Amino acid sequence: MSVLDDLSALQELDGEIRELERHVNDIPIRREQEIRKLAAEQDDLNRAREEVNRLILETRNDEVVISEIKENIAKFRTQQMSLKTNAEYAAMNSQIAKAEEAQKAAEAKLAEDKAKIPAAESALAGFQAVYDAAKGEVDAYIADLDARLAEIQKRLDDARLRRAAMAKPLDVPATRKFLMYYDRLRKSRWPVLIRLDAGVCTGCHMQLPPAKQQDAMKNAVTATDPAKMAIVACDFCGRMIH
Ligand SMILES: [Zn+2]
Repeated sequence: MSVLDDLSALQELDGEIRELERHVNDIPIRREQEIRKLAAEQDDLNRAREEVNRLILETRNDEVVISEIKENIAKFRTQQMSLKTNAEYAAMNSQIAKAEEAQKAAEAKLAEDKAKIPAAESALAGFQAVYDAAKGEVDAYIADLDARLAEIQKRLDDARLRRAAMAKPLDVPATRKFLMYYDRLRKSRWPVLIRLDAGVCTGCHMQLPPAKQQDAMKNAVTATDPAKMAIVACDFCGRMIH
């Protein structure tokens, strides 16, 4: 086993960790997307509820208007009894007749507004059902996402512990430079450890001089003695050649 084999095993575990981290980062984003899906249903539901409330308020307003007109008519009738002349009496009659017209119009409007309520209420019930169904689905999916996130987080914690244990034996003077090189590159050049494919770097796909392959072979020969091994890297991307 050479240090490069150890790094290769470490890289495999780091690959697992990267995949788990990707899930840990993705799940909260998908969770938010799911919740946002409900916004349209929530808007429809709110609008339907506002319409029902508006109609109820409108009918109450109609009823206030009608009762005010009725009070006025009663007042006019009382005043009429104390009027002295026929002309005054007739004028009051015409005022009462006008008020009665207004009352009829207000009662017609009340009937019209009341008649709109059942349809608005049934629309509200429909939007509520759509919202409830959508929310049920979203809640179930979110519960599933949360359970998966908890499970993945556990696996990630475990993988990180194993990683620390695996890296520790490499963090010694003989092999430290390989570990440091690998660790420095792994954030930006993944995977760090690559093989040549007919002289081509499998990381950046550049053709390397034949001497590079020979350097890599020399490492394989001296593999049991890390002190004699050199870091053989791609001239273009810096990846370590295994
Ligand atoms: Zn390269």
